[in-house]
Amino acid sequence: MANQVVSLSGETTQPSRADVVIIGGGIMGVSIAYHLASAGVRGVVVIERAALGSGSSAKPLGGVRATFSDPANVALGKRSLDAYKRFGEEFGADIGLRQVGYLFLCRSEAEVLDCEASVAVQNSFGSNSRMISGAEAARINPFLDPEVLLAASFSPQDGYAEPSRAVAAYAAAAQAAGVRFLTGTEVLAVETAAGSIRSVTTNRGTIRTDSVICAAGAWSRHVGQMVGVELPVTPVRRQIGMTRQQPQPYPEVPFTLDLSTTMYFHNYGNGMLLGISNQQAPGFGRDFSFEWLGEFNAAARICAPSLAEPDLEFGWAGLYENTPDHNALIGASDEVSGFFYATGFSGHGFLQGPAVGELVRDLYLGRQGFMDVSTFSVTRFHNDDETLVREVHII
Ligand SMILES: Cc1cc2nc3c(=O)[nH]c(=O)nc-3n(C[C@H](O)[C@H](O)[C@H](O)COP(=O)(O)OP(=O)(O)OC[C@H]3O[C@@H](n4cnc5c(N)ncnc54)[C@H](O)[C@@H]3O)c2cc1C
Repeated sequence: MANQVVSLSGETTQPSRADVVIIGGGIMGVSIAYHLASAGVRGVVVIERAALGSGSSAKPLGGVRATFSDPANVALGKRSLDAYKRFGEEFGADIGLRQVGYLFLCRSEAEVLDCEASVAVQNSFGSNSRMISGAEAARINPFLDPEVLLAASFSPQDGYAEPSRAVAAYAAAAQAAGVRFLTGTEVLAVETAAGSIRSVTTNRGTIRTDSVICAAGAWSRHVGQMVGVELPVTPVRRQIGMTRQQPQPYPEVPFTLDLSTTMYFHNYGNGMLLGISNQQAPGFGRDFSFEWLGEFNAAARICAPSLAEPDLEFGWAGLYENTPDHNALIGASDEVSGFFYATGFSGHGFLQGPAVGELVRDLYLGRQGFMDVSTFSVTRFHNDDETLVREVHII
């Protein structure tokens, strides 16, 4: 199940003309492609330099949740969660969705107050998340030591699913609706003239187009530079470990995250998937190492002692695509006509993929979206505006 990329028989020849070129074949690229094609847009081409889902979307299991503090992030998470719930009926695809809930552990008064405020926002969107005591948290998740917990927020509708299966389902549906996929193809340049997109050059030649959508994940800053648009996306390595599969499964627990240390864990087949968002220097390196294990063990000894010193079988390293305020960049450029961007998801891209596909489709078509997307515009950094999105727990 780990690090699965998606194999899809892509195009053997590169077209000379496209209505829209999407750069990047991760969850965002394929979701946007699917939403455009199913709205009747023809001439959509997705360019991916490796295999579909080989970037950050190769993560073996991804959390899906609507539990955020900012209304805009709650709206993106909820819309996407609803879409992932419909994947079976809509695409005939099993994406391994397990709605086991999300449990945020509070060990300080400030965390309790933040979570109470977040739960109120989530409830206003119809979520059934709620505050629970430490004792109830330990009943739901028997790995936890209730003595160290002041409280927790619990959102039963959240959970996790397999990103590669979601990428495969969107890609197949998009291809059936006429989208052309160029895998193993790298965008080297995007040409503009008089403030508009003219063409895209790859290692296979040039495609004339007047619209480009950047869905290049952690590599988006470079794509922005191709057209002179500053996209402040910084790559940061994040790692997870998977324990050996056991003869019997562990008790099924929610996706559990300690707010003080960012240590987290949840089931992974008959094993556990675990990690911690420790301090990392920015960079594109994706080599896996166990350097984070000491910090994980220290955190586990406090909250979930039996998970300290885990018997890890293997691990996975990928990149967070961080923005300065850890919120997404979604919009149409004011500087270059025809340039759209959907990036900077700062570790939440899988759970936001379906909603962002809809929003970018509506931006492209000039339609009213299901929510106001201006809060995610990159201009919040260019104009030195106050940050418009205000997420409390940046994890
Ligand atoms: C350890 C870890 C845990 C995570 N956990 C979660 C989680 O629980 N829930 C969640 O929602 N998210 C999680 N994420 C984040 C999530 O994986 C990403 O936000 C999401 O996959 C981003 O999708 P994307 O399509 O924007 O980018 P990607 O999947 O990275 O796709 C971008 C693609 O663009 C391609 N590309 C770049 N430049 C070019 C070019 N010039 N030409 C052609 N192709 C190009 C790349 O090859 C890549 O395939 C986690 C990430 C990590 C690393």
